Amino acid sequence: MTNVRDVMGVCEQLWPKNLAEDWDSVGLAVGDPESAVTHVHCALDPSDDVIAEAVELGADFLFTHHPLLLRGVTSVAADTLKGGAVHTLIQSGIAQFNAHTNADSVLGGVSDVLADILQLQDVQPLVQHPEADEGVGLGRVGTVEPTSVEDIAVRLAQGVDLSVRGIAIGGDPSAEVTRIAVLGGAGDSMFGAARKARAQLYVTSDLRHHPASEALDTGARGGPLEHLIDISHYSAESAWIPRAAEQLDEALRSGGHSVTVTVSDVCSDPWSAVVLPDSEEWQWN
Ligand SMILES: [Zn+2]
Repeated sequence: MTNVRDVMGVCEQLWPKNLAEDWDSVGLAVGDPESAVTHVHCALDPSDDVIAEAVELGADFLFTHHPLLLRGVTSVAADTLKGGAVHTLIQSGIAQFNAHTNADSVLGGVSDVLADILQLQDVQPLVQHPEADEGVGLGRVGTVEPTSVEDIAVRLAQGVDLSVRGIAIGGDPSAEVTRIAVLGGAGDSMFGAARKARAQLYVTSDLRHHPASEALDTGARGGPLEHLIDISHYSAESAWIPRAAEQLDEALRSGGHSVTVTVSDVCSDPWSAVVLPDSEEWQWN
């Protein structure tokens, strides 16, 4: 029989806890390490829809990228958002586990999936992890043959589950670039690293107005960073989930565990529609 502790052990080998950032929350949030596991369900977010999907499928282990509980918690009362989720999970016999910044930093993790989609060569971390082997760390930077920013955006669009938000380009879309930085998740805090890595284009999510416009102005005054691509957080990071599920499935099998591994069909992007300047009508997700 496979139990929660066994699955956690396999996860720890794939996405070691010590690679997580200090502020992060990774590992088991809900569940009894001794409980049996027959079905691991994998998703980006432990959102209500995803939890309902896991219950419907009869899963007993919900693996996600984002943490269920990140900030300090003083109540898990069932009538609160997170408390309600915790109750549903426990009542349905589902353990909840996540690998977050440890899965960003690890080789073959979230950032490498994005680097593969962009077809980057000579890939290195944007920020090397201070205690890990060379090549492990947050974000990736690499090179491509001279390619327009627009074509890079198309490459990205074709490689992810593109949500209704689409892809936004900052700077000249027709400009050709050869050195690209990429970071899964909110990328505002890594402009300095992208510049230091001499990236001409930075591909990330959740860029805010001021940091983005200041980065472009700085780029226009001599670079190196002159172009931005902003893709929805969901689109960027959900691309990793099938890869994580595959790795988990393989590792469980080779450990002699007979466990079903599935990938969520839920689009957990919070945005469901956009109005574009030239759209005649609403574009529904
Ligand atoms: Zn994220």
